[in-house]
Amino acid sequence: DRGPNRQDKETNVQVLLRCRPLSEDELRSNVPRVVTCNENKREVTVMQTLANKQVDRVFTFDKVFGPKAQQRSIYEQAIAPIVNEVLDGFNCTVFAYGQTGTGKTYTMEGGMRNKGGDLPAEAGVIPRAVRHIFDILEAQNADYNMKVTFLELYNEEITDLLSPDDNSKPTEEKQKKPITLMEDGKGCVFVRGLEEESVYSVNEIYTLLERGASKRRTAETLLNKRSSRSHSVFTITVYVKETVIGDEELIKCGKLNLVDLAGSENIMRSGAREGRAREAGEINKSLLTLGRVINALVEHSAHVPYRDSKLTRILRDSLGGKTKTCIIATISPSAYCMDETLSTLDYASRAK
Ligand code: ADP
Ligand code: MG
Repeated sequence: DRGPNRQDKETNVQVLLRCRPLSEDELRSNVPRVVTCNENKREVTVMQTLANKQVDRVFTFDKVFGPKAQQRSIYEQAIAPIVNEVLDGFNCTVFAYGQTGTGKTYTMEGGMRNKGGDLPAEAGVIPRAVRHIFDILEAQNADYNMKVTFLELYNEEITDLLSPDDNSKPTEEKQKKPITLMEDGKGCVFVRGLEEESVYSVNEIYTLLERGASKRRTAETLLNKRSSRSHSVFTITVYVKETVIGDEELIKCGKLNLVDLAGSENIMRSGAREGRAREAGEINKSLLTLGRVINALVEHSAHVPYRDSKLTRILRDSLGGKTKTCIIATISPSAYCMDETLSTLDYASRAK
């Protein structure tokens, strides 16, 4: 079955690999580097020493970005084409997957606001996608509306990162509206009770990102390690008025989900570990289920287990079918991270 249909499906999940540079601290303490990236060959090599013999392991991805890769080039090569799909009325999802400390948040959010209002070189996928969408719609002189939501998923519970609230109270008390997942008969998903903000300029995005980040920080002090165990989902929905026929308005709607996943060290790798981890409350159901959903999609299985976790339920209308999915797997070049790096590379190459 290698017909055009199958070909189409195969290109719907893209897996990219990004390796961060060693930090200044790591450089100062001469941390050994065990990862090399060959962007032209789209290969990542991990130099592993087993019983005094060097054994290289090589992985291939759709695209590889080495430590010198700029935020801008990742956006232009990997995300810009997806944004064009969204403007054509499709729902798409971009995930950052990897060990805590490897650059997931840097890739998705990146450096903060510039004084002048221009995008800084460190701006990540979220501000760049918003700017790109504005630029295209303005150039088309379109009649549009752009809305964003920003939520956090921790222990299968949803927190609204945009709801304005009193920071002196613990998160559970602050939540004004109950947040529930709703589905219509056609498989469309709504997260009811979420604050939805219309945005009219790129600068507003920074205000929203800062609001969300400070809410995550508050929650962090209440619960250690929360940010490495939680997922954040930033969703941009674009409505474009197409034509008006008599009293009928035709509105094209597309959705882009930008997901900063929990640290991959939280995922279960073997059945043996699963039992113990569940007791310790470590199991990350959404991360585990996402892996299964993506596997089912790339293998074209008849059953895709969307319903098994909140994250996959939230993203149901944006994963599979005609949607485009992009996974950016992030790794560290350091020898001390090698085990996690290898399991990220294994996981990410299986998603292809
Ligand atoms: P994660 O979200 O995966 O836990 P972060 O995005 O917080 O990781 O990154 C950890 C640290 O490394 C941060 O200080 C971040 O600024 C830095 N960093 C990550 N990726 C890069 C990169 N590609 N270039 C420069 N600094 C990076
Ligand atoms: Mg992070």
